Amino acid sequence: MRTDILPLCDKHYRTMEPCIAPFSADYSIEFFRCTDKFCHRCFSERLGYVTPKRGEPPLFSSDQPRCDQHNRPMFISTLDRQRNMIRYACPEPHCPDTGTETIGAGGQTSFQP
Ligand SMILES: [Zn+2]
Ligand SMILES: [Zn+2]
Repeated sequence: MRTDILPLCDKHYRTMEPCIAPFSADYSIEFFRCTDKFCHRCFSERLGYVTPKRGEPPLFSSDQPRCDQHNRPMFISTLDRQRNMIRYACPEPHCPDTGTETIGAGGQTSFQP
């Protein structure tokens, strides 16, 4: 997972913070978590954006953009509030692949910080 860009939460575009979840004695999962305490959104480079629930396998949406080169779910790297555009980046370090998406009216655009 790259460390030069932090992912943004795909629910309300807050910067996410890196976390490490111990999975077993010698294996842990690195992921990013939304800094909003009521938002349980996470991003992991294997699953993309997920909202983990205790005791349930993570549900991830298959319509998340993926990097063509690495076949990894991409994360939101920047939000252009002027044009309502979000830019996606690949979690693989130095991967130049990016994508953009326009946020439709009635979506998350009503959120104001
Ligand atoms: Zn969030
Ligand atoms: Zn890539």
